[in-house]
Amino acid sequence: MAKKTIQDVGVKGLRVLVRVDYNVPLEEDGSISDDKRIVASLPTVKYLLDNGAKVILCSHLGRPKGERRMEFSLAPVAKRLEELLPGVKITFAHDCIGEEVEKLAAELKEGEILLLENLRFYKEEEKNDPEFAKKLASLAELYVSDAFGTVHRAHASTVGVAAYLPAVAGFLIGKELSVMGEALENPVRPLVAILGGAKVKDKIGVITNLLNKCDTLIIGGGMAYTFYKAKGYEIGTSLLDEANVGLAAELMETAKAKGVKLMLPVDNVVATEYSEDAEHKQVPADQFPADWMGMDIGDKTAAMFAEEVKKAGTVIWNGPMGVFEFPEFAKGTAAVAAACAECDGITIVGGGDSASAITKLGFADKITHISTGGGASLEFLEGKTLPGVAALNDK
Ligand code: AMP
Repeated sequence: MAKKTIQDVGVKGLRVLVRVDYNVPLEEDGSISDDKRIVASLPTVKYLLDNGAKVILCSHLGRPKGERRMEFSLAPVAKRLEELLPGVKITFAHDCIGEEVEKLAAELKEGEILLLENLRFYKEEEKNDPEFAKKLASLAELYVSDAFGTVHRAHASTVGVAAYLPAVAGFLIGKELSVMGEALENPVRPLVAILGGAKVKDKIGVITNLLNKCDTLIIGGGMAYTFYKAKGYEIGTSLLDEANVGLAAELMETAKAKGVKLMLPVDNVVATEYSEDAEHKQVPADQFPADWMGMDIGDKTAAMFAEEVKKAGTVIWNGPMGVFEFPEFAKGTAAVAAACAECDGITIVGGGDSASAITKLGFADKITHISTGGGASLEFLEGKTLPGVAALNDK
């Protein structure tokens, strides 16, 4: 069921509580090292300001674990917001609930912003405590959810508040739901999914769900070696998810039964040890040397995967093709990133690692959608109900 967005409701004159994701990385001196999450919130914030709302922003930052630890204060975010929104009055509240905040919220005027202090200074936030949620909700007359990174968690600010206020999606969440929802339910075909990363365990749900949806499923990264094992290949000292070898075999059977083309690497870059400057070479899949470990997909595989990606109608990519943190073993991931950028179809990149690879390589503006939530986008691709989405009002 489609969810209401801020464009489906009137906001003029209303106090609007917006759950944003301002969980930004901070330097030791407290300055913000990457403000892209703040920038990403601006379309929703500006829309509300331009339409005469009184905007109350709330977020978590880091893991203060229910304690008031000032190294996790959102004060630096208030400063950055002032720079990004010149001329807009921004007040920083030194708490997120309580009398002082209630007074500031009541005094807020149309076109002004009140940024609340870190929600996770209260352990009640992550516990989805109804009293805490009620106090937060009491600050406003409308709730806007725009922190996709947290919608897979039922917290007071993502689910609890929606019991007390009309609840709608902001632009960021609206885009996540429409682009990813469309890719899963009504994709431009062929739908090609590329999954990588370390652990099969983490991706089982995604693979299972995508096998019902996609035309081609590409598996790379450390995960591929568990599939190799299931096929009886030598994998040397590569990453292995021993407990899931049987499951990998089952997934390959399912792919066959459903007519999904499942692709594994045909060659690999193998190294003598897990290190940046390890001795390494390329070998075909059936000539894997014992005592060596797979660190990246090989050139042939990279070209083969890239070819498949380029001709896709829709691409969903999650997880690196190798140990991309080491430049020598980042080439497979870079090749897939470049192929996504070249693809004329709809391209969706999820997961922190693939998203950062795309951004680092300068391809971000060539991708249809880079998901802002790692865990949440995985759960969405698994077909799970996201509590923070379910809590929003239906259209
Ligand atoms: P995940 O969180 O499961 O998406 O995994 C991401 C991590 O997988 C990255 O830190 C990569 O370094 C790692 N990775 C990818 N390929 C391999 C590989 N062949 N061997 C070991 N680690 C890998």
